[in-house]
Amino acid sequence: MASYRVTKVRKEAPALNPSHEHIVGVVTDDGAYHTVQEVVDSIRGGDVWRAFVEGEPEAMIGIEPFCSRPWCMHSPYLSSTPGETLATDLERLPRG
Ligand SMILES: [Zn+2]
Repeated sequence: MASYRVTKVRKEAPALNPSHEHIVGVVTDDGAYHTVQEVVDSIRGGDVWRAFVEGEPEAMIGIEPFCSRPWCMHSPYLSSTPGETLATDLERLPRG
């Protein structure tokens, strides 16, 4: 079992619905890029992924069935808890 720190996210607008951008991959603190599917497979395999911002509490990353936008069917997706108001919310990490 491995542990990963995510420091950046990569977002793209869906081709058929360019009204928002959602996370398509993440960058870990070693500079490596991982697609959302790779992270999902890793979590399912027992690895631990956390959103990391210097000086902030780390946030666990978990698997969501779909993008956080209710009308977006992009799947699977990732989110962090406790989320939203924290700098370590996955959606708020710097772009990478
Ligand atoms: Zn979406």
